[in-house]
Amino acid sequence: MPDGGNVFCKQVLKQSVASPNGGRLEGALIIFINYQLSIILNINLLSKTQLECLQKLIATAQHIVICCHKSPDGDAIGASLAWAEYLQSLSKNPKVIVPDAYPDFLQWLPHSERIIRYDKHQEKCDELLAGAELIFCLDFNTTSRVADMQAALDASPAKIIMFDHHLAPSINTVFSVSEPHLSSTSEIIFRLVWQLGAFETMSNHFAVCIYCGMMTDTGAFTYSSSYGEIYYILSQLLTKHFDKDEVYRKVYNNYSDSCIRMRGYVMYQKLQVFADQHASYFTITREDMQRFYFMKGDAEGLVNEPLRIKNMRLSISLREDTEKDNLVWVSLRSVSGYACNKLAEDFFNGGGHPNASGGHLDCSMQEAEQITRQAILHFAKQVDK
Ligand code: 5GP
Ligand code: MN
Repeated sequence: MPDGGNVFCKQVLKQSVASPNGGRLEGALIIFINYQLSIILNINLLSKTQLECLQKLIATAQHIVICCHKSPDGDAIGASLAWAEYLQSLSKNPKVIVPDAYPDFLQWLPHSERIIRYDKHQEKCDELLAGAELIFCLDFNTTSRVADMQAALDASPAKIIMFDHHLAPSINTVFSVSEPHLSSTSEIIFRLVWQLGAFETMSNHFAVCIYCGMMTDTGAFTYSSSYGEIYYILSQLLTKHFDKDEVYRKVYNNYSDSCIRMRGYVMYQKLQVFADQHASYFTITREDMQRFYFMKGDAEGLVNEPLRIKNMRLSISLREDTEKDNLVWVSLRSVSGYACNKLAEDFFNGGGHPNASGGHLDCSMQEAEQITRQAILHFAKQVDK
């Protein structure tokens, strides 16, 4: 039985003793069900030896840094803050460093004030990275994903621990948990904290951060989430008493009016649909951004929108960099059964998950569109084979 399960059973026992009529029976039934569930579902990720190794690495380090990838998303921030809470519970004082800005719709996350931005406080971050004994790399699989922070991370003498769910990790670590089949790094953090037997002592802030990370990496549980453990984990998170619908609203219903107009404009005027290829792309230029007072995060998730067209299999977003010329950021999304990560690798200098990948092109938007059209034809040919 998982360690966290034992803690849960103790909790249930306490509750059933407190309940006057029939509580014991109810409690016993819940314990039985939970025991059965914990056999069917395997929450634990580590062997006993691995668990001890991780505990030892944490126990022997004083200067700890947690970092995540560039343009952090809900999973990167949620996992980092949740893991920081766990380390804090062990009387550690981890520093959470992110390479650059994260969107406004994540700024409300509990304890986000502890986040230090590398692009704003480079000197301090360089010092922290150089002086760290242990660095946790969360939600990325290669150090190039931290962009301008890469040199400082690569040069750090610290032991590196990676927790991630992307394919083919290439970070040089002393310990790593790489679980590409799991929804999110936040789910990995939950499972680790559960196995470490610390979930009971975590606050509802921890639960909110984990929930936010799992929700944002699964499109609010609409993809990468078809396995039972997810719903077991959610049921455990909700024992911490937070309003999951409020988390949803804060993340997804947080647009400015200019942002929603920009999204409508892009879908109306800029979407190119290739019905025969079951694919589409759209562009967002700097001019579009200026027109709609574009803020970081305003285009977040927009690439999913064309997949709502009947029979659509692939959606590609091309967005000019806000500052640099000849730099176009590419996002790809596809429906299950039609992978887009190979396309990201072959055409867009990137990679990612089978149904959610990204990359970039060092060229004008016009050239990027030509490459994208070729990529779409290639995608359709591969599918027809
Ligand atoms: P997004 O479209 O949200 O920028 O990226 C979706 C996913 O694609 C990310 O979670 C990440 O896994 C992957 N991804 C984005 N850009 C790159 C890249 O340049 N290289 C690799 N290997 N993966 C990327
Ligand atoms: Mn993630």
